[in-house]
Amino acid sequence: MVSTTTRDEMTWYECDQCGLLFDDETDAKQHEETCTDEEPSYIQ
Ligand SMILES: [Zn+2]
Repeated sequence: MVSTTTRDEMTWYECDQCGLLFDDETDAKQHEETCTDEEPSYIQ
């Protein structure tokens, strides 16, 4: 799920699975749909 965090007086949306930060909630949710914490992201 996406959690919110405040940094530098800005609200960020953090992917709970990989910790990636987004400044847009929609982007965060879209990312979350395809994010998996089971497979490393460095697979090419
Ligand atoms: Zn993620």
